Amino acid sequence: MRSGTRWPDGGIPSSVSLVVESPFASFEELEREALACTKCPLATQGRSQVVFGDGDPAADLVFVGEGPGAEEDKQGIPFVGRAGRLLTGLIADIGLRRDEVYIANVVKCRPPGNRDPLPDEIEACRPYLEGQLGFIDPAVVVTLGNFATKLLLETKDGITKLRGREFPFRERAVLIPAFHPSAVLRSGGTALAQSRADFVRVKRALGRVSAERASSQGAPG
Ligand code: SF4
Repeated sequence: MRSGTRWPDGGIPSSVSLVVESPFASFEELEREALACTKCPLATQGRSQVVFGDGDPAADLVFVGEGPGAEEDKQGIPFVGRAGRLLTGLIADIGLRRDEVYIANVVKCRPPGNRDPLPDEIEACRPYLEGQLGFIDPAVVVTLGNFATKLLLETKDGITKLRGREFPFRERAVLIPAFHPSAVLRSGGTALAQSRADFVRVKRALGRVSAERASSQGAPG
């Protein structure tokens, strides 16, 4: 476990820290394969295109949402509708631009009618998300909402219980769950204040973990 990182109370299994090997030779190959993917039923249920991800593939901070909505499906970019504008604003509040982070989703194709992604769709798409996280190797991962949180923490606990807490993630990173921006838009005031507080924690974690990484890289031997 990372020095200075503490497990919160709760049912998060130790497998969270497993490092996942990527079957892809490069980030570009991963993206190429994803953009042509027909591995799950979402390929034939009305998607316009695969929404792979957006931002800096060398970012220290990665956000993982649920799946593309109508506007994302149209533009081929995640988080570009109202929820996207809220996310962009929350990122700006912690002093970063959208192009300085990376944003991806659990499933890369739009579920019809914005329904929840199904377990077999999430599992089929998982290698792309694992590949993105493996190549980017971020210091901090923020899971937005239940689907990304449950998938990456391998937990059944919900976002309301887990949000704003910090979990060790794959040896070199931490994961902080936060509300999905769409849920914040639906819920309003209190959820927005909680999200702002969670993003302040994200900013602190980013500074701390990035500094730990830099110092371990500079350490002799
Ligand atoms: S959701 Fe993922 S696994 Fe399914 S077709 Fe799209 S890219 Fe492939």
